[in-house]
Formats: sequence, C-alpha cells, structure tokens
Amino acid sequence: MSDLRELYQELIIDHGRHPRNLKRMDDASVSKEGFNPLCGDRLTLFLKIDNDKIIDASFEGNGCAISMASASLMTECLKGKTITETQKIFDAFHLLVTTGTEINMQLLGKLAVLKGVCEYPSRVKCATLAWHTMIEAVEK
Ligand code: ZN
Repeated sequence: MSDLRELYQELIIDHGRHPRNLKRMDDASVSKEGFNPLCGDRLTLFLKIDNDKIIDASFEGNGCAISMASASLMTECLKGKTITETQKIFDAFHLLVTTGTEINMQLLGKLAVLKGVCEYPSRVKCATLAWHTMIEAVEK
C-alpha cells in the first residue's frame, strides 16, 4: 500500500510540475474560467466539441500542484469522451475526492491517483476546480 501511495504521489508531482495540455486553444468551441479563492488556483479551460464529443481539451493558468495535476489528468481523460460520459466521469471523480467512494473507476483510469485528496478537505477545492469549470462549460 505504501508503495502504491508513493507511485500515486509521483504521478501527481509529475503532472503538477509538467502539466499536459497546458496551452491556449484558439479554435475552442467553448472556454471557461475557474478560480479557487481558498488557494488562489486560477485556470481557463478550453474544449473543442464536435457532435457531442470532446475532441480536444487544454487549459491555461497557475495554481498549486494538486490543481495543476488534476487539470492535466482531466484534460487527458476527456479527449474522445461524449458529453454524457463526461458527466458520469465528473460524478465519479467528485464522489471519489470528497468521500473516497469508488464508482465507475474504469472511466476514471489514472484519475484514481487523486483519491488521497479526500483525506485533506482543504485541498478538495483544488482538485475539483478544473472539474467544476468543465461541467459548467459543457452544460452551456
Ligand atoms: Zn490549490
């Protein structure tokens, strides 16, 4: 278990330091800003949506390692997903980081590494910032 925990931490540190999809998207279908005043995390999310499917996702911004890692892993996960799947992933991720409850884990994939956040209530907003921003963007 402690090995697994270390591995998880490494993945979070790696994505926090070297976020994937950290770039502006000029031809995005939708963009949305998010801000977490508790920690100062700030981001703008960009999504390219075609026929109810997310074909590309990226973000810009800065914040703590957890918020960056979560946005990085989320944008990787969203590519190729339908809006319906996206909402399922959001629900599963939200439940995981707020309560530690595991549902639809196959949909979450690597995002499971953020489960540990549920033990740190003050960091939950960091982990969910990109997600709340995303769900607001797709519901528009
Ligand atoms: Zn934060």
